[in-house]
Amino acid sequence: MPTYDFTRRARRQSDPDVVVVGAGLAGLTAARVLTGHGLTVHVLEATDRVGGRMATRELDGFRLDHGSQLLNTAYPELRRVLDLDRLELRPLAPGVLVHSGGRRYRAGDPQLTTARQATTRAPLGSPLDKARLGSWLSRLAATPAGRLQARPETTAARALAERGLAPRTVDGFLRPLLAALLSDPALGTSSRIADLVLRSYARGRLCLPAGGIAAVPAQLAAGLPAGTVRTGVQVTSIAADGVETVGHGRIGAQAVVVATGARSAAGLLPGLRLPGFHPVTTFYHAADRAPIGEPVLLLDGDLPGGQPPLVSHSVVLSELHPSYAPAGQALVATTVLGRRSFDAGGPAALEPAVRARLAELYGAPTRGWQFLSVRHVPDAVPAMPPPHNSRRPVRLLAGLYVCGDHRDTSTAQGALVSGRRAAQAVVRDLGLPSGAREAEAAA
Ligand SMILES: Cc1cc2nc3c(=O)[nH]c(=O)nc-3n(C[C@H](O)[C@H](O)[C@H](O)COP(=O)(O)OP(=O)(O)OC[C@H]3O[C@@H](n4cnc5c(N)ncnc54)[C@H](O)[C@@H]3O)c2cc1C
Repeated sequence: MPTYDFTRRARRQSDPDVVVVGAGLAGLTAARVLTGHGLTVHVLEATDRVGGRMATRELDGFRLDHGSQLLNTAYPELRRVLDLDRLELRPLAPGVLVHSGGRRYRAGDPQLTTARQATTRAPLGSPLDKARLGSWLSRLAATPAGRLQARPETTAARALAERGLAPRTVDGFLRPLLAALLSDPALGTSSRIADLVLRSYARGRLCLPAGGIAAVPAQLAAGLPAGTVRTGVQVTSIAADGVETVGHGRIGAQAVVVATGARSAAGLLPGLRLPGFHPVTTFYHAADRAPIGEPVLLLDGDLPGGQPPLVSHSVVLSELHPSYAPAGQALVATTVLGRRSFDAGGPAALEPAVRARLAELYGAPTRGWQFLSVRHVPDAVPAMPPPHNSRRPVRLLAGLYVCGDHRDTSTAQGALVSGRRAAQAVVRDLGLPSGAREAEAAA
């Protein structure tokens, strides 16, 4: 059982009503809801920037995200809390390009009618098998999320084998697509989550902001009153009436929301469950010419020796928006999934193998490409094996709350929802009237 300090100390005048620890999507969303109710909030962030796992940096004119991330226009919370027009979302090409058995083919465009799906040249089985996939995706798109959440739960891998789809449809499209979208090459994720992710895929478009993924938290932070976010403030311990920090002493509050990411939250809140994680490693290359003239998600569909491939997926980001690369250059982002033990060379030691595989996947020479950067994030995505609770409690006790993607689903959508849920719990406990918009959102 967690042990917490219940003694309430006097608050100073400079203390806010609520302290939020962590300025990732969840913490910023919580702060938006709380300040919207007239509360004063301090968002304390240990690093020197907002955004947490969603970050972008410039390198010699290239725009490199902290790891290749993709949003989906069908994520409902994205639409609810963000001004998507101002984010200038750029969609990927519909469907995906799969490389398997030495050939590349287009598959799974949800915008095609079932009849058109049946006539595509993708080696996903007979025309009937392909028509089945088309109607299966359409049915998934039309199924309410609540009904998917009520289905029997197993792993995504087992569910794919049991859904009555042709093995070639599964291996040649669904398996590599899900591995990429869930960052889970073994597909040990809950089948309910896999269904929700495929439903979003079938309803919306994969996309990225023109300004890089950091534009998302930047927009959330810009909507907060000046002085709300305090970067460079690391919280070392938590109580229901305030926090201790490194170098800034104690900051008191009526409520504390821990929005730090799962590992840090488990350190600050004894007894909190620590999930497993899916690591994500992203390689960035510069090329003189784009190896493919469109922003399509290229999946490696091969299973060498029955094992997941080295490269999961790759996108030419400069085809999405020219600002991702300097004029006359292309930026290629490539994702390697799975836990790997690196030798002294670190993840960069994998680069020659990644580059060689990219030549096969794109069908273009990669020898002249420039290796720009690699980013390995061991705790990138909290694992969601079955049984997965997509609505873990966010209220630990009156005055103490926790949010982050590890309380919902391990996606931007999950982080945003968890932040809103935690803030609503604070509002309720403080006896404030919950706004009409919040009540509607909670429904
Ligand atoms: C490489 C990669 C690829 C991904 N791909 C996708 C994708 O394609 N689609 C998708 O939807 N999601 C993806 N995700 C997941 C998505 O980024 C996260 O779900 C989301 O950003 C989590 O937000 P959060 O607010 O819960 O946590 P975080 O972003 O981790 O924010 C937590 C914040 O708390 C701060 N903090 C921690 N400890 C302290 C402390 N003691 N004091 C003060 N501050 C502290 C941290 O510095 C951080 O800023 C990916 C993640 C990674 C890393």
